[in-house]
Amino acid sequence: MPGGTDQTLRPFLWRAANLYPDTEIVSRTHEGIERYTYAEYDDRTAQLANALTEYGIEEGDRIGTFCWNHHRHFETYFAVPTIGAQLHTINPLLPDEHIQYIVDNADDELIFVDESMAPKLASAAADAPEFDGVDFVVMSSTGTDALDATPYEEFISDDTDYEWPILDENQPAGMCYTSGTTGNPKGVEYTHKMLWSHTMATLTPHGIPMADDDVVMPVVPMFHVNAWGMPFTATAGGSKHVYPGPSPDPEDIVSLIENEGVTISAGVPTVWLGLMEYEKHNDVDLSSLDSVIVGGSAAPESMIRWFDDRDVELLHAWGMTEMSPIGSVAHVKHELADADYETKLQKRKKQGITVPGLEFRVVDDDGNEVPWNGEDFGELLVRGPWVTTEYFQRPEANRSDFDGEWLKTGDVVTVDEEGYLHIVDRAKDVIKSGGEWISSVELENAIMAHDDVGEAAVVGIPHEKWQERPAAFVVPTDDADTDGLADGIMAMLREEYPKWWLPDTIEFIDAIPKTATGKFSKKDLRDQYSDESLVEGRVPDDAAPDADD
Ligand code: ADP
Repeated sequence: MPGGTDQTLRPFLWRAANLYPDTEIVSRTHEGIERYTYAEYDDRTAQLANALTEYGIEEGDRIGTFCWNHHRHFETYFAVPTIGAQLHTINPLLPDEHIQYIVDNADDELIFVDESMAPKLASAAADAPEFDGVDFVVMSSTGTDALDATPYEEFISDDTDYEWPILDENQPAGMCYTSGTTGNPKGVEYTHKMLWSHTMATLTPHGIPMADDDVVMPVVPMFHVNAWGMPFTATAGGSKHVYPGPSPDPEDIVSLIENEGVTISAGVPTVWLGLMEYEKHNDVDLSSLDSVIVGGSAAPESMIRWFDDRDVELLHAWGMTEMSPIGSVAHVKHELADADYETKLQKRKKQGITVPGLEFRVVDDDGNEVPWNGEDFGELLVRGPWVTTEYFQRPEANRSDFDGEWLKTGDVVTVDEEGYLHIVDRAKDVIKSGGEWISSVELENAIMAHDDVGEAAVVGIPHEKWQERPAAFVVPTDDADTDGLADGIMAMLREEYPKWWLPDTIEFIDAIPKTATGKFSKKDLRDQYSDESLVEGRVPDDAAPDADD
């Protein structure tokens, strides 16, 4: 039968170890900077594979990790799936009850945990029957007092040879839970084929290509959808890896970029907002950087311009846990190559064009296809080889969130004539005022364009007459003068938006609550401020959708 071997992960590492044996893998750890080569990495994955087999791990068993981004965590990325077991990356920022739920639901046999995270895991595991029978390995050479755990360097075997099995591409390789704004997190399983096809698609020019001259630093955590797949893509491309370790702050990020010559980095907008703020008071050299990938939530226009001014291309990407995760990247299409800067910027601000291999459709409330005119919007549905078609053991969600092999993303989007997707909002965050929709995301981005604003989130506050009205929560920058800032923001918004879109209140707060994946938690904001008195009496009578626009 024609067709060759199955699509599995092992060949990516085989190539890197043999073609680029001296290329480095560098990581910032509790113990300082550690570095070794692909050749040593390859040996260590075999040492870990041998240890797992000796421990009794078999094909199909699940192994959890509770770790930041570093070389030992990366060793589990290849060793676990390529022996036929399944790597379940656990988000350590989740509340204890979610951690208990997912360890139980995934039925993890063994959990690898960072020394700094051990107290947190110990607290989740204490007296929790969900952890019965689970063993721990701590990612250090010395061990931890917080948990009964074997130190990693003692756990791995001395044997650097391993007889890697031939695996079926449908063998589960990875697993990640979506953070779940309501109810328990939902598990998404990644087969070898999903991770393989995601890797190959992201290597293409309209994905996030990485090659042997790249130095790749995922700041996005490895517990969040495999750091957007970058450890796999960077290995397939033969790039040097840089891992920023436990809770990296802007200073750590900058020093790794400067010292290791990072060319591609990736993270959620808050990471880069931190860098932008840090740069105001410190010397920062970003000259090695070619691109930063920004996703998870919308990249503000001001951020794209900031990186452009420093000769770094910000690539705005969109994806989901359910999609392994990359769906689209805002590359400038060839037909727009000669367009002026501002025209291109309008495209780059959007969530972009789909990477090759995916299909999408956009449907309105009645299930009709929405035209590609950049105006009409509807819910985005996607399908493709790396898009899941079910959640792990969640029949009710499987009925509501899929239409056959199409995943209902819950994102409300427009598509323009050139095929650029633009996320108008999450279906659940759109503000419904007087029967019309206001995009919370658009208002946030507009507010964050103000020089004195660090972060801003806009949520709908219940309102008797208009159902909901927008309320803006703003974190001023450290050196901002807040006198007159609210008026300044309103004046700026007034130039761009109809009156009925304008927030009825701007509240200054110290920090915007974040989810376990670092996104603005609008649920927490709403819980904290769901007070009608916040906007009552402030809404002008003409603040109706049809008042003047
Ligand atoms: P969680 O944050 O719950 O773990 P995901 O990371 O899977 O879940 O989040 C996926 C969602 O994040 C998308 O459906 C979309 O709403 C949002 N998102 C991802 N990338 C972007 C982006 N570039 N712009 C706006 N929203 C984004």
